[in-house]
Amino acid sequence: MSSLPELTRSIRPTWAEIDLRAFDANVDAIVSRLPDGVRLIAMLKADAYGHGAVELAKRCMTRNVAMIGTALLEEALELRRNGITLPILVLGPLKEPQLRIALDHDIILGVPGPEELEIVARVAKERDVAVHLKIDSGMGRMGSVETELPRVAELIRSAPRLRVDAMYTHFANAGDTADPFTNEQLARFNTLVETLREAGIDAPRHHAANSAATMRGITPGDFVRTGIALFGAAPLDREATRLQPLLRWRTEIARLKELPPGHAIGYGTTFRTKRASRIATLPVGYADGYDRALSNKGEVLVRGKRAPVVGRVSMDLVTIDVTDIADAALGDEVVLLGSQGSDEIAVEELAAKLDTITYEVFCSVSARVPRLYTDAHDARIRTRFDA
Ligand SMILES: *Cc1c(COP(=O)(O)O)cnc(C)c1O
Repeated sequence: MSSLPELTRSIRPTWAEIDLRAFDANVDAIVSRLPDGVRLIAMLKADAYGHGAVELAKRCMTRNVAMIGTALLEEALELRRNGITLPILVLGPLKEPQLRIALDHDIILGVPGPEELEIVARVAKERDVAVHLKIDSGMGRMGSVETELPRVAELIRSAPRLRVDAMYTHFANAGDTADPFTNEQLARFNTLVETLREAGIDAPRHHAANSAATMRGITPGDFVRTGIALFGAAPLDREATRLQPLLRWRTEIARLKELPPGHAIGYGTTFRTKRASRIATLPVGYADGYDRALSNKGEVLVRGKRAPVVGRVSMDLVTIDVTDIADAALGDEVVLLGSQGSDEIAVEELAAKLDTITYEVFCSVSARVPRLYTDAHDARIRTRFDA
């Protein structure tokens, strides 16, 4: 295994460090707060919210994780190709050919409605099929609604080799502790499960909780499905319940120049220096997921201090004002997201600035940004440009 300087010598000095020990600690912290008999499904869709699903799934194999959840079949197959042997549940809608491929790779299907169930029931005439059945308890998106349950029951009865391992639902607003909708959804889920039971359809397991519900101790059934909490972002709207952040996105000062007052900076000349200024250019841009909406708005950390983004964020470059950081020098580390010294650009801060949620900020860090995985023994880097 190469040492860090050697790994990073051939690439632009912009990468996202992912702390695998923090991930382990977060998994353990979530597992430890679950009641007896409730187990963790680690949601690693969208490349583990940008953190890298393969690396994190490998860590899940060393811990008390029951299952991994993805949105896409492709995501599940990537995990299988990389030696992940944990059960994998695909929660997004699948078309028939995908569904057959999923079964060939021992991937469990989340069935979002009667249309997909019809295909599954047909396939289950030839082979054993295990599914988790999604119930819409109020979100109006995926899952079968009450009026569809007779058809759902009929389809399941018609397919003796179809095994419904679990029924599940998803909360729309569990992050808001004041909203009674979560409890209403839970009651509705229980009612619909009971309706199916009366129609002769039962499942041995149930699950509903996302990160927000899990952190609130609302963990009905046999599994929780947590995503965002595993990555150390706060899942609740108002309380600071976050675990440890894993991701630290850093770059370096690539150019540093003195500019006189009145000098323009960047496309559209949206910024002009008001004083004699030291302007640093960073080798990162919106193509890397540093949002263009952070133009003249974002802040980054240099030598543990905040420096403002000045001018427009370009595709490959960002300019910052380091006039007030007297010792800032060429090659200094610059943190875009995460901590440096005693300060931190938290994902919650960036999300608020961008008028979005932490999930989108994580998912925005593009595939062009290499991920550098570190643990106690090891550092290795994954880039799109690997041979
Ligand atoms: C993404 C997802 C989760 C995890 O949500 P978090 O808020 O990240 O914990 C749980 N269930 C379903 C169906 C999902 O799509």
